[in-house]
Order: sequence, then C-alpha cells, then structure tokens
Amino acid sequence: MRLYLDVDGTLLRRGGHARLRGDLAPALNLRPFLQWATDRYDCAWLTSRNRDGNDDAIRTIFRHAIGPGDEADAVDSLLARIRPTRWDEYKAQAIDFTTPFLWLDDAPEEESLARLTQHGTMASWVPIAVDQQPDDLRRVMKVLGKRG
Ligand SMILES: [Mg+2]
Repeated sequence: MRLYLDVDGTLLRRGGHARLRGDLAPALNLRPFLQWATDRYDCAWLTSRNRDGNDDAIRTIFRHAIGPGDEADAVDSLLARIRPTRWDEYKAQAIDFTTPFLWLDDAPEEESLARLTQHGTMASWVPIAVDQQPDDLRRVMKVLGKRG
C-alpha cells in the first residue's frame, strides 16, 4: 500500500512557540510516526514543498523545525525513505490510481478531491490537523492500524 504524505499541517505544525516566530514545529510523535509509516507503507511525498521530484527542500525544512541534534538526524534518515513525486497544478496529478493508496493531508485542493471522486477513491484521503491537534499523528496511527 502506498502512503502519500503532506508536510504542512500534517507532519509539521504552526503552534506553541513556533507560532510567535511564524515558524514550523514538528508534530508530536513525528519520529515514531515516520518509523511506523515507512516500515509499513511505500511512502511518497505529496506536498507543495516539492513538486519537482527533488526532496532537498523538504529535508531542510524538517531540520529547521526540529533544530540541530540527534533527533533531526534520526528523522532525516527516515525522511530519506520517502520517495519524491512530480506534479504541476494539483497534488493528485502525482497519485498512481492503479495502486491502492492512502493520502494524509490537512487540506487537499478542490482539484485533487475532484480527481479522487472521479476515481472513486475519496476514502483514501485521511484527514489530519496537527495545527489544531498537535498529537493527531497518534490518532492516525490508531485509525490506519485498524484498517489493516
Ligand atoms: Mg498541508
């Protein structure tokens, strides 16, 4: 099963001290989530931070959000297991509809949702909101764990 991952509002959040600086902070349980997700799924990025098949910018933003140290290195080695994707106008252009998938995103664009509807795969979208619920990754692990 493929798992497409958004970044902002999904893995990184605006909140707490980060809100004051206008910066991003890691969602709670980010590293356990990435370990769990990359062990279990074929993970691919689906984020406006990279639509050109290059994930350097993504990995840099996580390093900034986490700050220097072992945690950032551990997270980076997990991020390296997530494949970049290419798309032009909206995220769902990068989705391979011939393969079963899940898509974790706090706010998919209308065009992407329309594409999911066309393909009868709306249930593949897993809403998440770590801006409002900093520990929402934990809930997602439970929900997806039940789906098997
Ligand atoms: Mg987002």
